[in-house]
This record gives sequence, structure tokens and C-alpha cells, in this order.
Amino acid sequence: MPTSSAFNTTLPSRAEDVGSFLAPSDPDLIQDLAIANRILSDQGIVDAFGHVSVRHDCDPERFLLARNMAPGTVTAEDIVQFHLDGSPIDAQGRAIYLERFIHGQIYRARPDVMAIVHSHSPTVVPFSVARDATLRPVCHMCGFLGLGAPLFEIRDSAGDATDLLIRDNALGAALAAALGEASCVLMRGHGSTVVGPSLKHAVYRAVYAEVNAKLQSEAMRLGSVNFLSAGEAATAQRNIETQVERPWGLWKARVMPSLNAA
Ligand code: MN
Repeated sequence: MPTSSAFNTTLPSRAEDVGSFLAPSDPDLIQDLAIANRILSDQGIVDAFGHVSVRHDCDPERFLLARNMAPGTVTAEDIVQFHLDGSPIDAQGRAIYLERFIHGQIYRARPDVMAIVHSHSPTVVPFSVARDATLRPVCHMCGFLGLGAPLFEIRDSAGDATDLLIRDNALGAALAAALGEASCVLMRGHGSTVVGPSLKHAVYRAVYAEVNAKLQSEAMRLGSVNFLSAGEAATAQRNIETQVERPWGLWKARVMPSLNAA
């Protein structure tokens, strides 16, 4: 079990199990969540930290999330069910992620959201602290960023002496409010959270938020940047996101050998 540390973003947390396991109607949902964990690790979006969840397909008041562990090693057996308040349903004594409140409170605020990725992907973090830059779409693959990702400033909710983590439901609700109707919210000095209408959309957006950050950083070195307009962002998003199966298939093929061997 990991040791507690002020510098550890996934402090182990235990809580009493409340309720019983409910099998998803989609027989692939749990396995796809394990695959999503491994894809995000393989693509460099998460490392030892960060997590991805999916809303339960039979009960919108539940979501599925791995136990406290590095995403790159998750298997179907590691998936735990949670209530939207972050209490686990079937943790069976296993340590769970401290920042699970990100997921529950966004599912509560956004009925359209079916999957969520929280990460500290390294090129996005600078956009959370640069006072004069907003993460905005610079290419057609990243229209989901709209006119720019909103920023969650934890000092506004919890003062200037936090560890910047989403440690409870109140902070989760504040983060969900900052997200609003957007697809991506930056968390100042911490990372970002990306949402989508399916697991494949959320994974796609998490990968391409990092891609956009790299491209935008390069463009900003060259001078002022010509971003996608609101109309271009909306049209590009609508069209490119019909194709989320293609990157999912590519990324899945890379991780299946290790998942099958686990
Ligand atoms: Mn975090």
C-alpha cells in the first residue's frame, strides 16, 4: 500500500462499503475501463497518478473507477463501483483514490457526461498557471476545447494553503461548477479534467488536450496565434468525433498484449 505523503496525489483512502455490486448491462464496460486506463498510461496522459471513470450503464447514480493504483497496471478485477458521493460499493477493503470526488460531483452536475479522465498531463499543466494564456484549439482535432478551457482556482474555494487536491465533495462540486458545460477544465497548479459522452470520447479528448497543449505552446513561441473560431471548433468537433473508434482501436492494440498477460 502506498504511504501517505503531502506530495502524493493519490493518497490511499478507505471507506465503508455501502450497497452491493450491480453488474453493468454492457458486458464490455468493465474491460473497456481497464483498457482505457492502460491506453492513457501508454499515451503518456497519466503516469503513476491520474484516473479514468465511466458512469454505470444501469444506474446513473453510480460510476466505475479503479482502486488506488497506477493506471497502467489496471485489470478488470481492480474496478470498483462508487456512489456519486464518492462512497465505494464494493471496495472490499482495498484502498481507493482520494480524488474520486472529481468524478462523482461531475456526474452529478452533468447528466450528459458518461466518462471522465483526470490527469496531470505535463504540457497541459503550464496552461493552468500561465496568467496570460488559455488552452484553446489550434487544430481541427481539438474542437472540443471550444473557445478555451475554463480554469478552476482552488484558492477561491478553499484558501491559499491547500495541497491543491480535490479531497471532498465540496471541492468536487466547485470543480464541476468551474467546468460548467465545457469538455475540459484546467486545475491551477495541478492538472486537468476532461469529460465525454462515452469512454472513447473522454480518452480521445484527454489525449488530444495534451496534443493541443504541445502544438499551442510551439505556436506561441512563434508569435500571436490564430485559434479556431467558435464555429470552426463546433463543426470540427462534430465531425472528427464521429471517428473516435479509430484512435481507440489503434491505442487498444498497443496495450492488449500487456493486459492479456496480466
Ligand atoms: Mn490529481
